[in-house]
Amino acid sequence: MATDDGDAVELPCGERVPADAFDLGMREYGCACGAAHAVVTDAHPPERFLPGVVVETLREAVETTSEEMPEFGTPHLLGLVVEEFPGEMAVAEVTDDPDLGYALLWVSGFDSRSLHETIVELVVEVMEHAVSHAEDDDAVRQFESSMLDFDVAEFVERYRAERDLSADDVRV
Ligand SMILES: [Zn+2]
Repeated sequence: MATDDGDAVELPCGERVPADAFDLGMREYGCACGAAHAVVTDAHPPERFLPGVVVETLREAVETTSEEMPEFGTPHLLGLVVEEFPGEMAVAEVTDDPDLGYALLWVSGFDSRSLHETIVELVVEVMEHAVSHAEDDDAVRQFESSMLDFDVAEFVERYRAERDLSADDVRV
C-alpha cells in the first residue's frame, strides 16, 4: 500500500506511529498518550517470556498448522494474547522495510510486564488444556498440584530479573 502513512501502526490507544519508530531492541514504547506500551517483534525469541524448557515443551505439545510458522514461537504466543484481548493489541506486518529486521510487530495497550504476565497465564492455560487431553490421570494430577503453587507475578518478576542479567542475545 503506497498511501502516505501506509507504514504507520495504529496503536490500541488510537495513536498512529510510523513503523520505523519501533526497533529490535525496544521492549516498551513511551507513547504520546502517556502510557508505556509493550513492543514485541517476530525476531524476539519466545525465551523473552518463557524458560527454554517450557518453550521446548510447547513445541512438542502444540500442533501448529501454519506453513509460514511451523514451529511454536513468538507469533503463536502473541496470537494467544490477540485472541484473548483483541482490543488491546495492535498487530502490524512490516514488509516494506527490510532494514528493520522484523516482519511482524505487536504493540499492546498494556506495559511490558503486564504483557509478560498475560502470556504466562495464557501459556499455563494452554498447557492445562494439553495435559487434560493426555488421558493420563497421574500427569493431570501432577500438573494441577504443581500449578497450585505457581504464582505468575512472582515468576515474571524473577524471570525478568534473571533474563536481564544474562547474555545479550536474550536481552530483548
Ligand atoms: Zn498510546
